[in-house]
Amino acid sequence: MKPLNELIRPNIQALKPYSSARDEYNGADASIFLDANENPYNTPNNRYPDPLQRELKKLIAPIKHVNAEQIFLGNGSDEAIDLVFRAFCRPGIDNVVAIDPTYGMYQVCAEINDINYRKVLLDGDFQFKASDMLAASDENTKLMFLCSPNNPTGNNLKRAEILELLDKFQGIVIVDEAYADFSEEPSFLKELDKHPNLIVLQTFSKAWGCAAIRLGIAFASPEIIRIFNKIKYPYNVNFLTQQEAIHMMQRHYEVQQWITSLLNERKRLIKEFEKLKCCRHIYPTNANFFLTKVTDAKKIYDYLVSKGIIVRNRTNVTLCKDCLRITIGTRPENDTLIEALKKYPENKENEDNV
Ligand code: PMP
Repeated sequence: MKPLNELIRPNIQALKPYSSARDEYNGADASIFLDANENPYNTPNNRYPDPLQRELKKLIAPIKHVNAEQIFLGNGSDEAIDLVFRAFCRPGIDNVVAIDPTYGMYQVCAEINDINYRKVLLDGDFQFKASDMLAASDENTKLMFLCSPNNPTGNNLKRAEILELLDKFQGIVIVDEAYADFSEEPSFLKELDKHPNLIVLQTFSKAWGCAAIRLGIAFASPEIIRIFNKIKYPYNVNFLTQQEAIHMMQRHYEVQQWITSLLNERKRLIKEFEKLKCCRHIYPTNANFFLTKVTDAKKIYDYLVSKGIIVRNRTNVTLCKDCLRITIGTRPENDTLIEALKKYPENKENEDNV
């Protein structure tokens, strides 16, 4: 890896960050706060939240086996995705490399930040080669984006290729693990200490069941986390979100139960899906969704909408022609989906012929 100060944008390196009232207060015992122009009457949301979410990070660190200084918390992992561009990529000059297809926000953030986004096509098994990513890069490539399990394909990327990229790429490698709780593969968090160029993204939006509170996590070296803290909005994670996440940490065991039942449901739903005449293929998945190639994605999507069931039509995504992405729901939801599909004309034909 190049030295961090060669990767970081010069203006960010030189930036003197905004210092909020609660940054300057050093946490010494105090009971009267006349420093932040807040309303003193307890609404109870009258006080600014902790800008560095210290209490929450203290709870996350032992669960994830990292130090609190290796954690950045943001308004969804989408905030962290935007911050990596703003921290490392010079608009109009630098570029990034990403697998294709993958989560759409990497490209959107690249374009918002005026950064050239280079795509490396996955193979027929939705896998990539580190050598292809490196071949697509040049001296201005600052970041590489990997997503494992990948969205929308659902599969884990090959660990050996990710490790090779971490070893050989001179810039930052982002491994988005939004769906890793549903996978049996070990997380790349274990690699953080060995690879200073690694950023791992996780989120409270999936297995943790908290998409509404908007809380994402970036794990990286303390040096990289300090850069994020320097450029983030002062109070980027609001008080209600911090409180709710602290509360959720106490429900850790329930998260494990949800994961187990969603994995059982995934198995069951896929088995049922395979029997449908409209289903051409189901791609292997390590996530809380699966990608399926169907006879006509648009028609089936519209049919399901007419039944009040919304899945994701991915037919316009690279390598995903006529594919639907289906999130695993509760057992009754999955049953309703299957029952609706059994009544889809093409599937009924099957029945009528028996
Ligand atoms: N990464 C991936 C791979 C995702 O699929 C998503 C959400 N669909 C995100 C990140 C964003 O998650 P968050 O809700 O934490 O912003």
